[in-house]
Amino acid sequence: MARVLALDCPACGRGHSLKETQDLCPSCGGNLEAVYDYARAKKRLSRRSLAADADRTLWRYAELLPIAGRSGIPSVPVGWTPLFRAERLARGLGLREVWLKDEGRSASASFKDRASAVVVARALEEKRPVVAVASTGNAAASLACLAAGTAAKAVIFVPRSAPAPKLAQLLIFGARVVTVDGSYDDAFDLCLQACREYGWYNRSTGFNPFTREGKKTAAFELCEQLGWQVPDLVFVPVGDGNIISGIWKGLRELKALGLIERTPRLVAAQAEGSDSIARAVASGGALRPSRARTVADSISVRLPKDGPAGVRAVTESGGFAVPVSDAAILSAMRELARGANVFAEPAAAAAYAALAQAARKGLVRPRESAAVLVTGSGLKDSAAALKAAGKPHLIEPSMPALRALVRRGALALDA
Ligand SMILES: *Cc1c(COP(=O)(O)O)cnc(C)c1O
Ligand SMILES: [Zn+2]
Repeated sequence: MARVLALDCPACGRGHSLKETQDLCPSCGGNLEAVYDYARAKKRLSRRSLAADADRTLWRYAELLPIAGRSGIPSVPVGWTPLFRAERLARGLGLREVWLKDEGRSASASFKDRASAVVVARALEEKRPVVAVASTGNAAASLACLAAGTAAKAVIFVPRSAPAPKLAQLLIFGARVVTVDGSYDDAFDLCLQACREYGWYNRSTGFNPFTREGKKTAAFELCEQLGWQVPDLVFVPVGDGNIISGIWKGLRELKALGLIERTPRLVAAQAEGSDSIARAVASGGALRPSRARTVADSISVRLPKDGPAGVRAVTESGGFAVPVSDAAILSAMRELARGANVFAEPAAAAAYAALAQAARKGLVRPRESAAVLVTGSGLKDSAAALKAAGKPHLIEPSMPALRALVRRGALALDA
């Protein structure tokens, strides 16, 4: 099992011991990166040792995770989500190879489970069983889910505007849910203050360095599930920038360990109304706040909390960013469902919308292979899904009424 040697700050270049800090960089306030004993990991992890490992969860990569034992590992399996080829979609886009990794089939139905599983295990090892987060969405639902049945207690700060279905997901898992009469930012600040006052463990994105450690396992799986044949491009939906920076860290670690020879280019899919990282990539300049207005609530962010790392993931990998419209996101939801049998939430569909747009513009060449991270299930946001899906036909319960419908061609059975 791994031990984190240090926490490095990519922003200012300083390294810190775990005694100095377990969250932000004390020198510059940047989000830190865990450093392991890679020489040791290289001896213990090989393509062959992994092939012989029957553990089909993200814990198969424990050698590169910030936990020392197995005691804090939640019993529900996390990771090793299905990866499959979407031939029909590929044909439609004129591409040779399109792969989908469906994170919607995770325990709480989103990619965030990777981070929450690792953070809960870490918090328990640190003997800090109260884990707090401020979020309205998937991070909170996943923390609630993965803390359930363990010694950890999830305390969740949600703004009053939190939608009912997400509130239900939090409460059913037994999380302590505090509704704050204010905005998401108010909830975030209160969570931070509460963690300081009570010594609670803070899972919040861009603050806790170990969320990225969980998220990088999707890169490990992607490469391993492809038989170590690295795709040319990986499309990642981006809000705060923590997932894409995790994917990039995972790829760099695989390369350092000699498990892959080259790294793919990472493409940041953003909503046009929440495009801070895309604009910073295009201008090469600083991150500026966006309006944070999009149907894709999970990537709706004013100022990305892990923005600099997100920008670095795109530029260092030689990738690019694609802002997509809400209309393109809704259309991508239909295409994923009808062409690849996947029901994605809007943020997840944004990654496919970005691939479609990039293919049309010739930013992806026909013989290149592309993988798309489908980060969350469409069941999480049924209101958005209904916007994308259209309306049913309402009739009286009689055959004449049905015949009239069929005669009109309303069921489009010849299409
Ligand atoms: C959180 C989330 C994202 C974006 O991840 P960031 O780390 O904020 O960039 C994308 N899709 C889904 C479904 C998410 O929940
Ligand atoms: Zn720093």
